[in-house]
Amino acid sequence: MTRRKKIYEGKAKILYEGPEPGTLIQYFKDDATAFNAEKHAVIEGKGVLNNRISEFVMSSLNLIGVPTHFIRRLNMREQLIREVEIIPLEVVVRNIAAGSLSKRLGIPEGEALPRSIVEFYYKNDALGDPMVAEEHITAFNWASTQEIDDIMALALRINDYLSGLFAGVGIRLVDFKLEFGRLYEGEMVRTVLADEISPDSCRLWDAATNNKLDKDRFRQDLGGVSEAYAEVATRLGIFRDPKSAFAEGGAA
Ligand code: UDP
Repeated sequence: MTRRKKIYEGKAKILYEGPEPGTLIQYFKDDATAFNAEKHAVIEGKGVLNNRISEFVMSSLNLIGVPTHFIRRLNMREQLIREVEIIPLEVVVRNIAAGSLSKRLGIPEGEALPRSIVEFYYKNDALGDPMVAEEHITAFNWASTQEIDDIMALALRINDYLSGLFAGVGIRLVDFKLEFGRLYEGEMVRTVLADEISPDSCRLWDAATNNKLDKDRFRQDLGGVSEAYAEVATRLGIFRDPKSAFAEGGAA
């Protein structure tokens, strides 16, 4: 890899300075963490698969007019993105009960929710990303009321589109996490989708068997993590078959 300025290193990605002002390079690592980084492993090929899956999802969203930070994929592990100011919220959209919602409210995992639910968490590792209400978000100036409105509208639109996209390839979109950023364009500020959308940030269940095709395989030690991610990529048509996902990407 060429020497260049590292802007930020997270748990699964690194951000480098981009080739032009206002751009960054997003590098996908093979590292996986869970339970606020208490659990860590390296899953060979995961970064390559997430780069491809996130590219596919972000460019599809760009096509339907959802503004995102994504510009283009550069190579097996990197994509060129627009530099944004990250809004310190994790926005979770849920269609089916699972994970922390099931635990918190005692709703059995797998139960369809009466409607899609959007939740906000304050992005702060030291605090373990606590759930917050709009009241906290506006009182502490993490985002404005207008930005919350924009985020809600975008999150629900993304959910509708992705639920259909995944349903078309036999996958249930159970829930997922989004991050948004502020894109400064002269005098204007726009709220755009940032970060990634991949099996690291979504719960994806096979529609026929409820087999988990996402990071829960890592969280719950089910094994076959990269194989499941490759299955998602293959069903989306990114690779011809799961084997070629590894041949074309796994080793890079
Ligand atoms: N999620 C994520 N990053 C986080 C927390 C959650 O990508 O730091 C995703 C997670 O993969 C799932 C959804 O957000 O698709 C909802 O997660 P949940 O609140 O159920 O938390 P978890 O059970 O993952 O702790």
